[in-house]
Amino acid sequence: MNSRGLIWQTYMISCGKCSREEPLPDRLFREAAKRAEATGWAYTDSDGWLCAHCLPLVLSSPLNTETIRAEIGARIRGVRTAKGIKQASLARYVGLGRSSIANMETGRQTISFEMLARIARALQCPAADLLPESMRGAPDEP
Ligand SMILES: [Zn+2]
Repeated sequence: MNSRGLIWQTYMISCGKCSREEPLPDRLFREAAKRAEATGWAYTDSDGWLCAHCLPLVLSSPLNTETIRAEIGARIRGVRTAKGIKQASLARYVGLGRSSIANMETGRQTISFEMLARIARALQCPAADLLPESMRGAPDEP
């Protein structure tokens, strides 16, 4: 019981990497999530909950960079095909070869921020639309 007499439930979250567990006493999961952030835990698309120890390791790991690159590539392909633009046309517009676009779309080639901005301009979409959810921040729950 807290000072306002509410019954507090305990949620257990466990780290997706090291399986460490953390009790989160709270009535609402949303508030529990905020508390988790205060203790250094965070929820990720790739691994679920991560503890304060594992979170920085995962965020900076090469594996995660590959995932992000693949997600950006898939989004570029999604917007491009939705607009009926050919790889060769996009390549010409941004000054690259068609194979570079193909490699970017499958996550095999690194994309600079400048190139991302040029591709977004060529596709006439906000650059943020090409970023993975995990890089855009979670929207507030209703
Ligand atoms: Zn951990």
